[in-house]
Amino acid sequence: MHGDSGVPVAWFVASNPGPLTLDGSRSYAVGSDELIIVDPGPAIIGQMEQLERLVGNRPVAVICLTHAHADHAGIAELAAQRFGAPVAASGETLTRRGLAGRSLEDGDQVGPSDAPWRLVALRTPGHSSDHTAYLLEPGRAVFTGDLVLGTGSSAILHPDGEVGACLESFRHVLSLDPGRLYPGHGQPIDDGEARLREYANHRLERHRQVERALEAGAGSVAEVRRSVYGDLDVDLVRAADASVRAHLAYIVSQGRELPPVAGLDDPGHPIEVE
Ligand SMILES: [Zn+2]
Repeated sequence: MHGDSGVPVAWFVASNPGPLTLDGSRSYAVGSDELIIVDPGPAIIGQMEQLERLVGNRPVAVICLTHAHADHAGIAELAAQRFGAPVAASGETLTRRGLAGRSLEDGDQVGPSDAPWRLVALRTPGHSSDHTAYLLEPGRAVFTGDLVLGTGSSAILHPDGEVGACLESFRHVLSLDPGRLYPGHGQPIDDGEARLREYANHRLERHRQVERALEAGAGSVAEVRRSVYGDLDVDLVRAADASVRAHLAYIVSQGRELPPVAGLDDPGHPIEVE
């Protein structure tokens, strides 16, 4: 498949399907002669062989990471060694994974030096505070990591993730008039702008649901979660609780009073998904 810039974008799905990873984590190869890998994926059996097939015998200019979660970056160091390529990510992502590499600020460009295209780093905290998306230029395709997924919505992993930051990141990407989105999980999305607006609306609606649950007397994180999400698959309860805590923290961050809610103290993030 080609990004709307005409630059080839190829990918595979890691063998780590699950409630949080959907059909699995996606690793992308951008370019034709010399590649950028976006998110090499989890350190699981078979992952390196899949990466080798994706890359073939082409040189890898750089390995970009969207964030430090293990399902995206677990194999980053091994992949950097295998392909002889540097890693580029936000400074916080590099620190969290203990990686050397190029620390990217918002607007920094990465790419093969003589290629007519590049990736532009978009600092996009929200799902996690270290998150970076990448705009493929020329064109408007965006690699969204876990900011936007192919289906459903993405958890905000409080306290690292923040609702306010998430809404701001949606606005940031929307301001670039995005085209196709390549998410970290799930199928590419052709109308990126519509999906980002859906995500922003969904997040605001979730927030109203949390506020209504509190008004109705929900007195614990679990009660708010049941009111907002109903019955959940047991594997999703922790992620939903983390999102509820993120919404409660957002109320406080707006200078508003929170009624007493049991279970506010975080039991210990991170939710590490392989
Ligand atoms: Zn993640």
